[in-house]
Parts: sequence; C-alpha cells; structure tokens
Amino acid sequence: MARYQLSNIQKRYSFSANPPVLDKIVFTIDHIHAGDHDLSSTYEVVKFLADRRIPVTVFMQATNPSNDYEFDRNNARLIYSLAPHLVTLGVHPLPKGASQQQQQKTLHIISDIIRGVTRKTPVILSYHGRGAGPMRGIHFAGIKFARGIRHAWSVNGDNPLDTPVMPLVSVSRAYEYIHERNNAGLSATLFVHSAELRRGTPQKRVFDTLVRDVMQRRLQALAYQQAMEHDFHHTGTSVISTPPQATGVMRLSALTKKGKRPISVNFSIKQRDGHYRNHVSNVNTRQFNLPVGKYRVSAQIGRTTVNKDLILTATQGIHHIFLMPV
Ligand SMILES: [Zn+2]
Repeated sequence: MARYQLSNIQKRYSFSANPPVLDKIVFTIDHIHAGDHDLSSTYEVVKFLADRRIPVTVFMQATNPSNDYEFDRNNARLIYSLAPHLVTLGVHPLPKGASQQQQQKTLHIISDIIRGVTRKTPVILSYHGRGAGPMRGIHFAGIKFARGIRHAWSVNGDNPLDTPVMPLVSVSRAYEYIHERNNAGLSATLFVHSAELRRGTPQKRVFDTLVRDVMQRRLQALAYQQAMEHDFHHTGTSVISTPPQATGVMRLSALTKKGKRPISVNFSIKQRDGHYRNHVSNVNTRQFNLPVGKYRVSAQIGRTTVNKDLILTATQGIHHIFLMPV
C-alpha cells in the first residue's frame, strides 16, 4: 500500500483572528477507500495524520452486508486503532432519495459497528453526494451534528445539521475561507475523499498545505465534534455578556473608472467601531456577512488604493462599487 507523502508546499497561512490563538481547522474524510500503487488508501491517509498527532474524523458507510458487515467492521477497527484518541468515526448515511426506513436501518447498522469498535455511540454524520443536506421527512435519531457539502455560510447562520465545508479549488481560496470563518469565531472544516488526494490535484495541494501549517503551528486542528461543540455553544469570556451580534450584508466590487470593466483588486475591510478585519486578494467582487457597524473599506491594485467609509446596518445591504483610476 502506498504510504501517504506530502507534496511540495508553496504557501503558508499567515492570519490569526485572535492572536496568539491559532485559527482552527477540522480534517474530515468520507468513506473508507482502498488505494492503488500511486494512491494512498484512507487507512494510509489517516495513519499519516495520526502520526503527526492531527485529529481526523472518518465518516463510514455500510457497504458490505456479508457476515454482518464484517468487512466494514474490520476497516473501521483498523482505522480507529491507529490512534483512538485522534480518530473519530462518524456515520455516512444513504444518498438523498432513500426512505426514512432505509436511512434508519443504515444508521442503525453503522452506529452498531462504530459502537462495537469505539464503545461510543456516534452523534455525528456526513451527507452523501451532490445536493446533499437535510431532507424533508428524514430524521437521523441521536445525531447532534451533520457535516454538509456546501461552502456558503453566514455569521450566526450555520445549521448544526448541515455544517459548511471549505472550498478546495485552490490554497488561496481555502485560506480565505479559513480566515473569514475564524474571524467570525468559527472553525473551518476540510472535507475530502482519500481518493481525491492523488498527486497533482487541487484537493491534495490544499490538504498538504494545511497539514504543513498545522505541523508548523500556523493553524490548529480540532476534531469535528469538538469544533462543532465550540462553534455552536461558544461562550468564551469575551462574548459571554454580549448579546448575539447583528450582522449585515456588504458586497464590494471593482470596475475600471474608464470603460467600467470588472477588475481584480485586493479588498480590505476594517471595522472602525469594533474588531472585525478582513482581506481578500485578487477578486473583482465578493460578498461579506459582517457585524453591523462603521467600516473603512479599500480596494487596492498596484500602487492605487481607493478608500471608502461605510455604515452597515442589519436591515439594508450595501453594494459598494469602487471605480479604479487605472
Ligand atoms: Zn459519500
């Protein structure tokens, strides 16, 4: 079996929402897959993370009914026993379209396997496939948190039964996502299938970069369940007495002053009556969900910077268009 190996890493995570506390990420893997001569199996990927003391959650399916799912049970046992303190097993149900009865039966089978291996009843789940998420009329008894597949989120808008995941198109995009989430006091969940971690894929580039960032203490990795407990029941000392923050929607765009063509710039956002800060590189438009308040926003390209002061309220969204004199 191919041992998992890191590829060359170019980028380093350089943000921190609340220094010296590191920004938080979560590693999750769906399915237990076999590898081939140049693709590591899920077992090898989990082993690689566990050897580096990185917590990882594996959402397992019930794939093989023979001998009371002996094959799935063995896989689960092998992976869990790599590092019981770092590896969490969660439930991966049937795809959308299955009936409540079928889902319930599968949940039962997987929970049984996980209980047999870990002595704990699983309370976390991951949805399967395109368009996945909570389904009308389907209820997963005992499940506290379910990881979805969407990237979209808004401040105070996360659903514990459909938590978002970071986009994996590029390292910069993943970094932006982690940065924005942590600025909002939330963790950022990475979701891959080990089969996507083949040499040269964007998923592998993001995965490897984040592993390196955790190893070199630029990011901290939490177990999925632990991170969700924190995200949804956060009562840190600094926020304990503040009421839930009202938020508003701000969109920033940039056009060339002459010709009004979209132009990619670096946006930065600074709250003048609070602590919110954000920076997004090389985009021509981006929407933000921000605490209400007074902001100084800017768009920068090369040596040209344009500033604007804005007041964001909860009731009225802002779309500010920078006209860049370039
Ligand atoms: Zn799946």
